[in-house]
Amino acid sequence: MKITRVASTPVCLPIPPRSYASDDAGTKREWGRLSRLSPKRPGTILEYLVVRIETDQGAAGIGEAPVDIGFFGQTLEEVQAAIDDYLGPQIVGLDPFDREYAMHRIDYRGNSCAKSGIDLALHDLMGRALGVPVSDLIGGSHRTRVPVAIEIAGGAPADMAAACVAYMARGVRAFKPKIGGIPDQDADRLRAIRDAVGPDVSLRADANQGYSPKEAIRLCRLAERHDVGLELLEQPVAAWDLQGMAAVCRAVDTLIEADESCYSIHDAMQLIRHEAADVLNIKIAKAGGLYAAKKIAALAEAAGLKCVLGTAFGLGIGVAAKLHLAASTVAVTDTVEFTEIGLHGNLLAPPHDARLALPLEEDGCLPVPDGPGLGVELDEANCGKYRAAP
Ligand SMILES: [Mg+2]
Repeated sequence: MKITRVASTPVCLPIPPRSYASDDAGTKREWGRLSRLSPKRPGTILEYLVVRIETDQGAAGIGEAPVDIGFFGQTLEEVQAAIDDYLGPQIVGLDPFDREYAMHRIDYRGNSCAKSGIDLALHDLMGRALGVPVSDLIGGSHRTRVPVAIEIAGGAPADMAAACVAYMARGVRAFKPKIGGIPDQDADRLRAIRDAVGPDVSLRADANQGYSPKEAIRLCRLAERHDVGLELLEQPVAAWDLQGMAAVCRAVDTLIEADESCYSIHDAMQLIRHEAADVLNIKIAKAGGLYAAKKIAALAEAAGLKCVLGTAFGLGIGVAAKLHLAASTVAVTDTVEFTEIGLHGNLLAPPHDARLALPLEEDGCLPVPDGPGLGVELDEANCGKYRAAP
């Protein structure tokens, strides 16, 4: 079997504005800067590229690449050009099962989202060609349902607590509020949320690089003193400050998770060498696909660390991929982050348009798709409505 074509299609979905004010809440790094809005994109939107890989034997696969200049640092136009003009042509003519070589051929510096879109389509294609779910290709399935966590935007403590309670009515049992501003005010936010959601709900927090090491230590000590049950604190300090991350790790009992510090397998190795994290956040689009994500999980396992699978948005294809990764990887923590299902509907065909969406069933979980490949299909007509100009 030979790959004959790799092509991407841009899709743009509007997201509703927040129901509460976020001024001076959430991470200090975003106060007044790093806006996603521009003259060309004046409204709040999320952009994606759907990647399709075709072969000479009729087998095909789909993947997706999220695009976000605020997080991944690349625009839709850049990622599309990378896929269509550079990475895609490198693998035309290869056997799609030559995964190691194919990913090596497209291992340009950066470009994790473009690589990830291609990697997901390759996995979908291989699974479909063999008639097995992707989880069977990457380690099997040690669980069929995965508990869901949702991130909560920064704001006034009462507003953040109310947002959690509203999600609980839709079946969500785990939350990761955005903090990273003033530690004492952030501790009040965590207390308000814990008081509102009760003792049985999982509570993590993401500082999005907002603290200095000393501020991060203060936040953790306040959270420990107030017994808010904080499972972990994500990326307390700047992504580049591995010594600062290590200082926080040493000073507190709270588990410290690396997100923006952990893109590639090399980043994961640096974090391990510096003892700069207790937990590694894997996002498939940061890692550059499922193949690289499994390598990061193996590094974490060897170092005695755990992995959290984080939110990276998506049209539903990425949700399915995350479920296959969670099902097949024992180094991944129980709860997986799926904020995307609360931001906009997916573009999947039935039954997964409803199955991989809110509200969740009683157990607060999403089911791992069990069909061939990633196990989901795009609703092409619905997708067409959101097609963006190339
Ligand atoms: Mg994060």
